[in-house]
Amino acid sequence: MSELEAKDKPSNFIRDAALEDLKSGRYKGIVTRFPPEPNGYLHIGHAKAICLDFGLALEFGGRCHLRFDDTNPAKETTEYVEAIKADVRWLGFDWGPHLYHASDYFDRLYEWAEALIKKGLAYVDDLTPDQVAEYRGTLTVPGRESPYRNRAVGENLDLFRRMRAGEFPDGSKTLRAKIDMAAGNLNLRDPVMYRIRKTAHHRTGDTWCIYPMYDWAHGQSDSIEGVTHSLCTLEYEDHRPLYDWYIQALGIYAPRQIEFARLNLSHTVMSKRKLLQLVEEGLVSGWDDPRMPTLAGLRRRGYTPGAIRDFCERIGIAKADNLVDIALLEHCLREDLNLRAERRMAVLRPLRLIIENYPEGHAEELDAVNNPEDPGAGTRKVPFARILYIEQDDFRDPPPPKYFRLSPGVEVRLRYAYIVKCTGVERDAAGQVTTVRCEYDPASRGGDARGRKVKGTIHWVSAADAVDAEVRLYDHLFTAPKPDETEDWKTLVNPRSLEVLRGAKLEPSLAGAKAGDRFQFERQGYFSVDSRDSAPGRLVFNRAVGLRDTWAKIEAKT
Ligand code: ATP
Ligand code: MG
Repeated sequence: MSELEAKDKPSNFIRDAALEDLKSGRYKGIVTRFPPEPNGYLHIGHAKAICLDFGLALEFGGRCHLRFDDTNPAKETTEYVEAIKADVRWLGFDWGPHLYHASDYFDRLYEWAEALIKKGLAYVDDLTPDQVAEYRGTLTVPGRESPYRNRAVGENLDLFRRMRAGEFPDGSKTLRAKIDMAAGNLNLRDPVMYRIRKTAHHRTGDTWCIYPMYDWAHGQSDSIEGVTHSLCTLEYEDHRPLYDWYIQALGIYAPRQIEFARLNLSHTVMSKRKLLQLVEEGLVSGWDDPRMPTLAGLRRRGYTPGAIRDFCERIGIAKADNLVDIALLEHCLREDLNLRAERRMAVLRPLRLIIENYPEGHAEELDAVNNPEDPGAGTRKVPFARILYIEQDDFRDPPPPKYFRLSPGVEVRLRYAYIVKCTGVERDAAGQVTTVRCEYDPASRGGDARGRKVKGTIHWVSAADAVDAEVRLYDHLFTAPKPDETEDWKTLVNPRSLEVLRGAKLEPSLAGAKAGDRFQFERQGYFSVDSRDSAPGRLVFNRAVGLRDTWAKIEAKT
């Protein structure tokens, strides 16, 4: 984590506020929390919140809690809890002993609810959920008071205890705060604090049949934990007056809530509800489908935690909503992998090439550079022989204008090897080229062109030594930059977002590649070994990102 600590952080209004609070003595240290609801997997938007929450605490020597806001047992599971923990750790953050749950506080919240009833600040309501919504009014129409609003304290206490004891069916009663049905802020119109839900909870089992609403649990959870800066997204701005009201009514410690804009990313959706729909309706293969904006999906795709942290730093923290181009995320990955990923040769769509004047049965090993950005990465041996595979795209007959790769009568350089000249082709009955015939210049080994101009360099693998692999190419999950803006957003799923190539041929040094290993396939992009479908004897690679940098172009234009 020292690598994170040492980094010079650009400032933002939240960091400035924290600094000010430390200087003025309002708080002695920084305590933040990341509060996910375990009802789905974390996505790249959550990464922004995680980097902010943990980053701020790290920078000022404070602490950041991981707190599960688990107030809705119907949608929450331990699978999600475990996935969230793994994702936060993978991003590089550590909550130490500070793992908490809103459900840790169910007893305390219940006692506090009784305290509000006793103060005449909460009441049991018999309106149905539909009626509660109807009585609430709208932004322009004030709410109406429930006929049960003025029940006596004793009656409220009795009914609330009986709610807890399971005497009433789901949805028949709620406990509500008695605030102001005419408030301009709808959240203050007697919000529901508890509802009856006879559903087992993944942590508390059948202990409870009434569950606190998120708004009743959230502020007090922050208060109990001594959170100083409760950072949340803009939609909670309108909830802040309610949190303040609860804290004041209870007379407990008040954290400082500061809101920031959520991350919106182009060509994807980010709400957990929509991501769940993609999973449940089979539009993707799961939460960790490499096209998903989830951390599990990005990890499987080949993203590094460093690239994601870098992305979160670059997008910054602002108060106004905006849309970030997914090209920036890809750019961050490319920059990171350019420095660390070893280069390899891989032919994704193979075409056979025979070197007619290369002695049959002869073989040699050529030296290839592992990473030109990192001399310490050294070199490796790549076998060369008479029969090779090249990319289908690297041969054309006739060649289009400005085509510098292979075509009849033309010379190209084979990367790390020799210059070859195309002498002819073999075609199948349909006229498709099945084999390219060449002659090589034995004196050109290692790229010595001996005065002649050879414009193209192409990659290759030795046919006899090649390792077979399946390669999966990905494109944006949605065809439109803002699928969220359309009612039928699911129709915008990109039908070409996944292309599977089953006959790829790799240089033999890739035979031992392990799940999660990342490489640059020369001239193709960055690829990582799939963690789910690879097995001994079956290599599956995901293309994490191509080499072409669309972000650099966007930046150059502006
Ligand atoms: P979703 O709308 O996707 O269901 P959520 O806000 O309901 O997300 P939570 O589990 O409640 O999901 O989120 C945990 C924390 O992550 C919250 O503090 C929330 O503000 C933050 N967060 C969620 N989505 C984003 C986002 N797109 N950008 C930044 N922060 C986010
Ligand atoms: Mg939420």
